[in-house]
Amino acid sequence: MQDLLVNADLDAAVADAEARYVASNPQSQARHLAARASLPGGNTRSVMWYHPFPVALSGGQGARVRDLDGHEYVDFVSEYSAGLYGHSDPAIQARMIEVVQGGIALGGPNVFEAALGAALVHRFPALERVRFTNSGTEANIMAISTARAVTGRSKVVAMREGYHGGVLTFAHGGSELNLPFPWLMADYNDVAGTEALLREHAGDIACVILEQMLGGGGCIRATDDYLAMLRRVTQEIGALLIFDEVMTSRLNFGGLHAVTGVTPDLMTLGKYIGGGASFGAFGGRADLMDRFDPTTPHAFSHGGTFNNNVLSMAAGHIGLTQVLTAEASARFNALGDRLRLAMQDRIDAHGVAACTTGCGSLFNLHFLPKGGVTPATVERADLRPGKLWHMEMMMAGQYVTPRGMIALSLPHTDADAEGLVAAFDRFLEDHRSILPKQGDMA
Ligand code: PLP
Repeated sequence: MQDLLVNADLDAAVADAEARYVASNPQSQARHLAARASLPGGNTRSVMWYHPFPVALSGGQGARVRDLDGHEYVDFVSEYSAGLYGHSDPAIQARMIEVVQGGIALGGPNVFEAALGAALVHRFPALERVRFTNSGTEANIMAISTARAVTGRSKVVAMREGYHGGVLTFAHGGSELNLPFPWLMADYNDVAGTEALLREHAGDIACVILEQMLGGGGCIRATDDYLAMLRRVTQEIGALLIFDEVMTSRLNFGGLHAVTGVTPDLMTLGKYIGGGASFGAFGGRADLMDRFDPTTPHAFSHGGTFNNNVLSMAAGHIGLTQVLTAEASARFNALGDRLRLAMQDRIDAHGVAACTTGCGSLFNLHFLPKGGVTPATVERADLRPGKLWHMEMMMAGQYVTPRGMIALSLPHTDADAEGLVAAFDRFLEDHRSILPKQGDMA
């Protein structure tokens, strides 16, 4: 009976929040309805959809964004981690304007691509050579395809609930649109199970691809044991280890592998590295990547009209060399740690069954009991508390993702973080009677 009442109240609270959200966003709603005439469901990027319609953004400044109805938000979406520099970094803006004025779509090597390559190789220990793509998805496709070509093997091990791009998605049992590689699915952090899988298919496995912290999968970190096992066993069976650092590279100046101390054979990058313009890159061991050297016989060919587009190359270069310094990286990741712990402190104070996972500038709020967050529990979680939180945070001027992921950008301040904690505390105070309690679900 108690459960039924809680469910009814939670459903009612979600319905009420949605009704207020609709009433306060008429322009976004009109845009959404009009967009349906040309875009399926008004949408061209699945993660940007949430019910009843997403707010449409009209601009951004620093760590703030504005929507069509004139609301201003503190931006904790940070373009799903790609907006690391915020919306108006002066050095990046100036470089982009200069580049646009100098001519784009030039159709030849430009002066920025090798400079960006050098900055990346200098920064990330696993990266001896690098090639550029247009997106993280493409980078992962190229890394996997490279592994298959150099090993002469076909099978690819990926993690359940992992995400490596639009055609490399393993949430909710995978997607019909996934590329038809012969996938073998492993359970993240299951040391014994994954080792058994690798040994069973030892001679057929080209590579294992994973994030050292599942980003889209809920900011769940790989254990040291798990990473050590993967490194050891892939070497023993002659398979390549690929770290997708499209999201996680922001967590430390040298990427997350510089923290875990496990060096992959290949790694991929994307998101913020293009300074806010489209970007992807794959690279790693020189002996593998040099197969792309066009001056050698039988070199692999890798095309891509916009691989070296001047905007991404120039903005990316100035961002990495002048803006995202070691100090800036340490500062904003430390701010993220403080924010995550402050949110956990409010959760504990209210006794709600919720917790935060992740580290540094990228973390996730889950309405799951503390200590109980795995890819499988995230997959099965009741979505209503998170839905309510999302709607209420948006109406409180905090731009957050529907799935609870929070990403900081360099312009975020302590005051921004304190504002989010205060709004979260009010939410917990107002709704704790209808949210699951710590202990209820353990
Ligand atoms: N890999 C990870 C870990 C990601 O989070 C994403 C995007 O969210 C991708 C790859 C795909 O990158 P893109 O959206 O640039 O194709």
